[in-house]
Amino acid sequence: MPDSQQSARPNSPIAGVIGWPIAHSRSPRLHGHWLQRYGINGHYIPVPVMPEHLAEVLRAMPRMGFVGANVTIPHKESVLALADVVTDRAALIGAANTLIFRPDGKIHADNTDGYGFIANIRQNAPGWIPDLGPAAVIGAGGAARAAVASLLETGVTELRITNRTRIRAEQIRAEFGAKVVVYDWAQAGNMLEGAVTVVNATSMGMEGKPALRIPLDALAPGTLVTDLVYAPLMTPFLEEAQARGCEIVDGLGMLLHQATPGFERWFGHRPEVDDELRRIVLA
Ligand code: NAP
Repeated sequence: MPDSQQSARPNSPIAGVIGWPIAHSRSPRLHGHWLQRYGINGHYIPVPVMPEHLAEVLRAMPRMGFVGANVTIPHKESVLALADVVTDRAALIGAANTLIFRPDGKIHADNTDGYGFIANIRQNAPGWIPDLGPAAVIGAGGAARAAVASLLETGVTELRITNRTRIRAEQIRAEFGAKVVVYDWAQAGNMLEGAVTVVNATSMGMEGKPALRIPLDALAPGTLVTDLVYAPLMTPFLEEAQARGCEIVDGLGMLLHQATPGFERWFGHRPEVDDELRRIVLA
């Protein structure tokens, strides 16, 4: 970070997470743990913001001493239109989850979900070589777009995608390019043949929702299978993949890793993601 920005950081910086509702967010616990662990004199608080108040609140936050914020549902898309600077990846994904309120008054919007997605796999499956073969993504919502963007950045040569509502997958192909191949939802099982990486980016398997049910017969042992759902940690999809000899990575690490770039920018310390943090966030 340039010196001008370092020196502009307040003595007791405040960051937070904006969403509506916000009580469920695990981010305050996560950032609060890091602040305590590194002895940083700063604060991280949940800020409930109704959609009709978003623009007004964003304008006020820097004046109130906030150095930045995480953004969650339902504001991830709408903050893009209110930011002064939007990173290329946030623009491509169509959503931002991390805001930096710069000393010059400008709001900088980034998306770190794709970073968190890849960092989670690399930490938990260090032998993973993403460009050895096709990647297969199930789902085409906001989280899927982040996974697609980051997988393409790792150099995968073919990115297969399927979604219940096919048009959303077609849209991703139109925006992300010719390496993206759309499979029909009814053909989801075929998409897994020869894949090196398989991702559930739907909300199926979350607590209170039915399991994701697609035929996994084509999954080869050793395939890296990951689920973006993290409640529960062990989804039926991951259970079945593990029973087939696949290497599995749960979705909690993505949530933890996506938080690290924001924490570093706001509080000046690169935080670590480890088992202690997992335990604290799950508690
Ligand atoms: P989203 O934009 O609402 O997308 C939801 C996706 O799930 C869409 O592809 C949707 O398909 C699919 N879906 C929903 N109900 C379905 C059903 N009954 N059958 C088949 N497909 C169905 O949500 P999102 O933000 O992408 O989040 C998706 C999941 O990722 C959530 O569980 C979220 O908690 C998780 N997530 C995790 C992290 C992390 O850090 N680990 C980060 C972000 C999100 P249609 O298009 O057909 O509706």
